[in-house]
Amino acid sequence: MTLMDDTTLRSELRRAVIGGQITAAYQPQIDLASGRIVAAEVLSRWYHPRLGAISPGTFIPMAEEDDLIIELGDSMLGEGSSCAIDWFERGTPIEVSVNVSAFQLAAARFFERLVERSDYLQLPHGLLTVEITESQVISDMPFVVRRLERLRELGFNIAIDDFGAGHSSVSRVVELPVTEVKLDLSLTQNSSPASSALIAAVVKIAAARDLRVVAEGVETRRQLDRVRSIGCDRAQGYLIAKPLSRDDFEARLDDAPFAL
Ligand code: C2E
Ligand code: CA
Ligand code: CA
Repeated sequence: MTLMDDTTLRSELRRAVIGGQITAAYQPQIDLASGRIVAAEVLSRWYHPRLGAISPGTFIPMAEEDDLIIELGDSMLGEGSSCAIDWFERGTPIEVSVNVSAFQLAAARFFERLVERSDYLQLPHGLLTVEITESQVISDMPFVVRRLERLRELGFNIAIDDFGAGHSSVSRVVELPVTEVKLDLSLTQNSSPASSALIAAVVKIAAARDLRVVAEGVETRRQLDRVRSIGCDRAQGYLIAKPLSRDDFEARLDDAPFAL
């Protein structure tokens, strides 16, 4: 992409964020004991009028660099919270997970908005999960950890995302005030004995600390059976469903449980 294109795309992203044109998709997570949908991860989507769908892998880093991530992230938290309370009130409580960038965690407004919004909606805090990546938390440890501890005390869930990608360490999971570990698809999809051993170690530590383990990027039956037999609690991936529109996600809630 040329510099000119990049600059144009950035200004279009700004307009899209401010104009509310970044939408939310919802990817189901199933419970590996019952096969039922128990949670949804909120994923940002940008349908550009000329270029079509632009990947979050492209526009999220841009939003982070251009100070748009706070606004974008807040709108995803708003969308996710509003779904969570609606689903709760109609009798199908679904936990909603929202990706939170390190820039958001560091911003004073983020924490206050999250708590204020949840309380305004009377959303049970346990229905909201904040997904963070380990590498991001390291940047300003004591400050960020205090924030996360406060969220924990208030009953929100905190997930460590992309575990097993890059330099994740099992010991860090023990130090951070998290409630959930999300295994990166590179672990889920790697059937080597070393990968199985690592997943088993995470499952063991998680059980001792009462943490949930979610396997991400499950694309095949074999991968599902493997993570289930090792003891993961939940699974998310194309085998179960791709990220869906809110309407399509809600339609799935009426389906029979996923056959395990
Ligand atoms: P992530 O948080 O790890 O989200 C999971 C990604 O894996 C999503 O990509 C999802 O569509 C994809 N995925 C789900 N199941 C499968 C599968 O079975 N196979 C494969 N190959 N992929 C699968 P997506 O939507 O392109 O998002 C990419 C990344 O962008 C996310 O990775 C997250 O880090 C970031 N992102 C997306 N939305 C937001 C947001 O609202 N805020 C922030 N801060 N980051 C976001
Ligand atoms: Ca995530
Ligand atoms: Ca992930």
